[in-house]
Amino acid sequence: MTAAAAHADVSAGVAPATRACPACGGQESRALPRYSTPRWQIVECANCRFVFLRNPPVYERMVEEFAWEKTRVVERQRRKEARPTLMQIDRGTRWRLGAFKPQRRDLYRSLFKPGRVLDVGCGKGRHVPPPFVPYGIEISKALYEKAAAHMAKRGGQAIHGPASEAIATFPDRYFSGVVLSSVVEHELRPLQLLSHVARVLEKDGKAYIRLPNFGSFNRVLGGGHWCGFRHPDHVNYFTTNSLRSMAADAGLAMKLLHPIRTPFDDNINAILTPMAKH
Ligand SMILES: [Zn+2]
Repeated sequence: MTAAAAHADVSAGVAPATRACPACGGQESRALPRYSTPRWQIVECANCRFVFLRNPPVYERMVEEFAWEKTRVVERQRRKEARPTLMQIDRGTRWRLGAFKPQRRDLYRSLFKPGRVLDVGCGKGRHVPPPFVPYGIEISKALYEKAAAHMAKRGGQAIHGPASEAIATFPDRYFSGVVLSSVVEHELRPLQLLSHVARVLEKDGKAYIRLPNFGSFNRVLGGGHWCGFRHPDHVNYFTTNSLRSMAADAGLAMKLLHPIRTPFDDNINAILTPMAKH
């Protein structure tokens, strides 16, 4: 690129900063052109091999310009044109829009002790069932307002803001459960977020985590057409190993909910519990 072209990019606001590996802090990375586009660079860390979006939009632009509500439409169209048979409804998107999931409520009731439950990326705030007291974090202002009204009625609270910062406002050992459904793949500082999860959970509390499975057969077979890619909303691409490793660094032990079928699943579903020494 010429100096003039580089300058034009910066002045137009389209040259985002690049980030270090969110797992180990390493600066060196290897390009993965098969999963990248001319605009968005998916790379693998040269040190720990974590896969991530190297040049995410800055946070403010992420919220306004690349909000998931908009990129969802663009990505669906891209996939439809690229390979119609691989297109499917994004479960994470349905989740945040408030699609009713009775089986998920049963799961929470079986996992969490009665008490306060924090839903990170809570959408309209309807996912945490009674008897739990619902708390939430939501970055979309419109969804946050709905969540705040609903949660206040049930004795809980919603906070508006980026997950890794908003969660810092809660006291230690405050929650019996934390829900991380379709949220950590969006987070620019996932290790910071998980460290706070370890901090805010009661000693025998549990977190449920769900995110796209970069280690799935569909990603290996489908390559860049895999449904887990969403540029630039998804900024981290976890395998079971890299998630287990980052969770451990945060002070959380990980257990897969469905270990046998996970390689065939586009998503990882797991339980995180605070490690004894934390
Ligand atoms: Zn790394």
